[in-house]
Amino acid sequence: MRVWVRWSAWLGLFLMLWTVAAESTHNHPNQTESASCSICVVAHSASPTVSSVQTAPLFAAVGLLREEDVTAKARFDFSDLGIRGPPAL
Ligand SMILES: [Zn+2]
Repeated sequence: MRVWVRWSAWLGLFLMLWTVAAESTHNHPNQTESASCSICVVAHSASPTVSSVQTAPLFAAVGLLREEDVTAKARFDFSDLGIRGPPAL
């Protein structure tokens, strides 16, 4: 990253933080000045209403689950070695 890009990013971040601090901590000695201040007018105005339209969810099948039987194939080691297994009853 070039040096000037890094410094401009830091400058932008610093200006943003300074603006946030200045807007949140400023005060006015009397009410007439606060009435003409754009920051105070916006801060003390009525809360904006939320205007969001929620769309209906779309349900669609993306695949089918197919069950398959799983059978384990048991195999004893003694049958490979020629050793006699346990007696069957
Ligand atoms: Zn103000």
